Amino acid sequence: MEPDLNLLEYLTSEGAHYIEESVRGTQYLPRTALGVATFLLDMEGNVDLLTAKQKVTYEKFLKPLLFDVPCQGFSGAKSCRGNGLVEADMLRRCYIEGQFRCRSCRGKKTTG
Ligand SMILES: [Zn+2]
Repeated sequence: MEPDLNLLEYLTSEGAHYIEESVRGTQYLPRTALGVATFLLDMEGNVDLLTAKQKVTYEKFLKPLLFDVPCQGFSGAKSCRGNGLVEADMLRRCYIEGQFRCRSCRGKKTTG
């Protein structure tokens, strides 16, 4: 699955702190992960063009930010009304707003 380029673009620019946070506390350098993200963006998201080393960094830090972001619902992950993950096409908006909610949880506030 290829990453959303708009999202990747955001994470290499204004959203770089999200990558930095995911790297924090590991032996990796934020600039390593950011470098892979920028490279991937230049390659139009083609993960196959990453080197073996870059792929490890991608799987470890970037993929979780691009595909596996848990929905926080309205009062924590357990309150999610969807499948627990934020849809990939919703993520950029979530990162910008700093509110991680899937499509179901963003739905109408009043039912019916
Ligand atoms: Zn949800």
